[in-house]
Amino acid sequence: MRSNKLKLTALLSLLLLSTSSLYAQRIEDLPRIAMDTLDTGTNAKVVIYTNNTWEFFFPGLDSLVARNVYTTNWITDQVFAYKGTSANDLPASMEFPLFNKVNEYKCPVVGRVSSRYGIRRGRNHNGIDIPLKLREPIYAAFPGVVRYSRYNSGGYGNLVIIRHDNGLETWYGHLSKANVEVGDYVVAGAVIGFAGNTGRSRGVHLHFEVRYRDLTFDPERIFDFETGDIRYQNFVLEKSYFNIRSNASELLEDNDEEIALLATEDGQEITSEDILENIEKIQEAEAKKLEPVYYTIKNGDTLSRIASRNGTTVSELCRLNGITRNTIIRAGRQLRIR
Ligand SMILES: [Zn+2]
Repeated sequence: MRSNKLKLTALLSLLLLSTSSLYAQRIEDLPRIAMDTLDTGTNAKVVIYTNNTWEFFFPGLDSLVARNVYTTNWITDQVFAYKGTSANDLPASMEFPLFNKVNEYKCPVVGRVSSRYGIRRGRNHNGIDIPLKLREPIYAAFPGVVRYSRYNSGGYGNLVIIRHDNGLETWYGHLSKANVEVGDYVVAGAVIGFAGNTGRSRGVHLHFEVRYRDLTFDPERIFDFETGDIRYQNFVLEKSYFNIRSNASELLEDNDEEIALLATEDGQEITSEDILENIEKIQEAEAKKLEPVYYTIKNGDTLSRIASRNGTTVSELCRLNGITRNTIIRAGRQLRIR
């Protein structure tokens, strides 16, 4: 062990020597990575970098506000963090900066909204649904900090909640798997999890909500999910938007067309639920196709007999099982047939 370590050290020094002789080390060539901070006794801090440089850092008002956002009402084991907030306590309208040069945005997924914000079968649908393929990545809409990331037995399944600098929260439900943990800082566009069908869900989809102080409003007021575009740089949230019957449909110019699309030829109405159900059926069938199917070999079976009985070919069986036509198959063993 010891001699190996010595050899390694010698090798590394040799490498360093050879590279430093090739390239004269200049201080500006060294990586500039913050390695320490010094308090100055004022608002400013001194940040020291690995390349022997330093600079003053003034935590701006924004980040001070942001820090407050991430400490007050910071509950990580329950979905609701502002118990008792009523829309009546809030101003008639509030402005939320959604993005700027530093803080970007990303539509969590792009796709057709199959179920809108509003009342669905007598229950409040507090977000929107977008059908997806299993394990499609889902992106953080804005930079922020993960407040909640766990399985929620209330129906959301695997749920990630991210709080953002401006105080808004984005909720991502029914994930097959979360990719972040409570306390993680995320940038806009970070993969926070993968599409799934966990919780009270029929078919793989993202259930996406936007909340302010636990209160929901229609996410389509912020994003055009079909194009992935954001609608405003500064979003004005009217108190009335918190009403479950208040939705973004007035923003959607082609709303009439969409309603027309939701009717069959004989005039029967197709609900977004039906669309989702159809998509689920197709997805299930697709998933079944991909799932491997095994057959237990019986006495007297031959590859060609197994192939013809299962609607496949000998060469396909050979490919799936990594065998040749001449491989002797034994009763009781499993053979992959799909
Ligand atoms: Zn939903």
